[in-house]
Amino acid sequence: MHVRTLTTGGLAAACLMSMALAGGQAAAAPHTVNAPATTRVVTYDAGGSAEFRSAVDRGAAIWNESVDAVELRPAAAGQRANIRVLADNGWPRALPTTLGSGTVYIGRQAVDEGYDTVRISAHELGHILGLPDRKPGPCSSLMSGSSAGTACTNPYPNAAEKAEVEGNFGGALVGRVPSARAEVIVD
Ligand SMILES: [Zn+2]
Repeated sequence: MHVRTLTTGGLAAACLMSMALAGGQAAAAPHTVNAPATTRVVTYDAGGSAEFRSAVDRGAAIWNESVDAVELRPAAAGQRANIRVLADNGWPRALPTTLGSGTVYIGRQAVDEGYDTVRISAHELGHILGLPDRKPGPCSSLMSGSSAGTACTNPYPNAAEKAEVEGNFGGALVGRVPSARAEVIVD
């Protein structure tokens, strides 16, 4: 091929130059970049979550890996957190106040029955991020909760659940107070 390029002379050289030019133009064209995402930081305090603290941190990290519109960040010492996470002996539940704030209980009753603590944590945080229960549902759904059974340890939201949270915290919806969410969501 090298020999052939040499023997075809000027034409090949012209073609190569043309290709190089086209390449240069392509590289110089405006790079397609997604619009800078506005990430809303929501703080949480897992200081009252006792033996579930690492599971709560993992659940928060999973949401951070999964969505861009909101970030769950541990509250600084002395800072009032948007979300309080507590451990108790009841069934896991969430008490959202406004979107991105409220109280989560990691209930030992479900843990004692064999439900996964990280899935519970991510699920309850999902309620605070505006997601309702989706029961019954498959293990691939985070919000199917306990209906997926104790064998289900999936702590990740599915594509639809991620999209819903992105939408909840996206643009014009930021700051809205969901009217139907000021109630206890058990499980
Ligand atoms: Zn639930």
